[in-house]
Order: sequence, then structure tokens, then C-alpha cells
Amino acid sequence: MPSYCSAYKCSNNSDQGYALVRYPRDETLKRKWIAAVGRGKNWSPSSSQKLCEVNSYV
Ligand SMILES: [Zn+2]
Repeated sequence: MPSYCSAYKCSNNSDQGYALVRYPRDETLKRKWIAAVGRGKNWSPSSSQKLCEVNSYV
């Protein structure tokens, strides 16, 4: 099963050849990523959710 990007309006997934990464454990960094995801400040990813290379800061 492919992994999908959790960013708003992004449907990139591992089957398309995108690298999917987990959210960082560091809270400051994680908040930065959440801001970039565009789902609002109160949204937070579950432990299994990932971001594609396009939306992440890697
Ligand atoms: Zn994405």
C-alpha cells in the first residue's frame, strides 16, 4: 500500500516515486511543517502520517 502525503490538496504518494517522510520529533520543527501543510495550527499529524518531499523541509 502506498503512503500518501498529508499536506492540504496534495495527493503525491510513494507509488508515484515521491519520497515520503515522517514528521520530525522536534516540536519546533514539527510546528514549522504543520504550518506548511496548510491544515491550520490546531491540526496535528498522527504518528503514521507523512509528508512528501515537495511539502517537507528535508
Ligand atoms: Zn505533498
